Amino acid sequence: MLNKLTIRDVNIRNKRVFIRVDFNVPLNSELNITDDTRIRSSLPTINYAIDEGAKVILASHLGRPKGKKNPAFTMATIVRRLQRLLNKNVIFLDDCIGPEVEKAVNSMESGDVVLLENLRFYPEEEQSDDGFAKKLAALADVYVNDAFGTSHRSHASITGIAKYVRPAVAGFLVKKEMEYISDVMANPVRPFVAVLGGAKVSGKLGMIENLEKKVDKVVIGGGMAFTFLKAMGYDVGNSLVEPDMMEIALKIYNYAREKGIKFYLPVDCVVAPSMDPGAETMIVPMQEIPKDWRALDIGPASVKLFTEAITNARTILWNGPMGVFEIDAFSRGTFAVAHAIAESYALTIVGGGDTANAVDKARESENMSFISTGGGAVLQLLEGKPLEGIMALDDRKEKE
Ligand code: AMP
Repeated sequence: MLNKLTIRDVNIRNKRVFIRVDFNVPLNSELNITDDTRIRSSLPTINYAIDEGAKVILASHLGRPKGKKNPAFTMATIVRRLQRLLNKNVIFLDDCIGPEVEKAVNSMESGDVVLLENLRFYPEEEQSDDGFAKKLAALADVYVNDAFGTSHRSHASITGIAKYVRPAVAGFLVKKEMEYISDVMANPVRPFVAVLGGAKVSGKLGMIENLEKKVDKVVIGGGMAFTFLKAMGYDVGNSLVEPDMMEIALKIYNYAREKGIKFYLPVDCVVAPSMDPGAETMIVPMQEIPKDWRALDIGPASVKLFTEAITNARTILWNGPMGVFEIDAFSRGTFAVAHAIAESYALTIVGGGDTANAVDKARESENMSFISTGGGAVLQLLEGKPLEGIMALDDRKEKE
């Protein structure tokens, strides 16, 4: 159980409840929301606060405005979708701090919902400026963190504000994400398989090393596989290799062998002369990657191997695509693995970011047990490290 207080543990009736949400949804070039999962994920907390008679103040970032006002990243884009999902009027304020915002917030009635403008229109948000955090705190009687995807950041609205508002508690999304991931890491039903992919070993080294101590099998695909394969003596052509990670890749492999952890690497791959969507492609065994060609996806034999490796799994954790799934020609391996994981009889956990996106593209989102809404945050948890934004919340005291 999460050892932090949650919104359910505190009195919020008639209080100004500042909920830090993660409404950082993907937008297309016409500023239409292409996936509203993140908004929907915060609805239980927002609806609970409305039902309890709180004055609900919602704050988030959207995109990367780099500390400047920019209409392409205004939270006004979110208001209509939020209103539709809540079936309730939402008051949009075109700033997130200052006397006008304070005046509007202080005239709220119980059950009202206000959405503040993008927090990252101020550089002070990401700098975790204390003065800015105090101005946010001036809007709140209770602070709720429901922005799981941003909880690994020491930003003003995540850690800064929690210094000045008491109580500071977790929302339901944060509670669910934290409990799911820590339960699985602490007590996985075995066999526990980690399926890991993505571009580089370097970006995920901490996760691989930590997971390796807990799992029964490791399956490695994606660009990172080629650093392992090269270190083992394969000629991988022009594929993505991190020479300075080769030694550590061998260490990871040898550790697995010593501990009896089954370790799977691709046995074939889809190669192309370049990453160009129209490039010529071939499927080759790992031993036959042509010089100057690069491997951009796992091949059908690897899909079979990986599928067999997970058939007896009771817990599967998946982080990182098996290939360059954004390009059709190199997406099959990732989608096939998504189907295999979805069809398994295991508890299936998808670590957010790119992997969640790939599962969505494979139309398997409904068939996974749990898909995290956080990319970097989930990576940090899987590395075995606490999240700054969660540490900043009030501890749950043991009942006397
Ligand atoms: P990450 O953010 O580390 O999970 O990496 C995800 C990215 O890895 C995706 O954008 C993929 O396109 C990329 N990727 C996966 N496989 C390969 C590969 N074989 N070569 C180059 N990039 C890859």
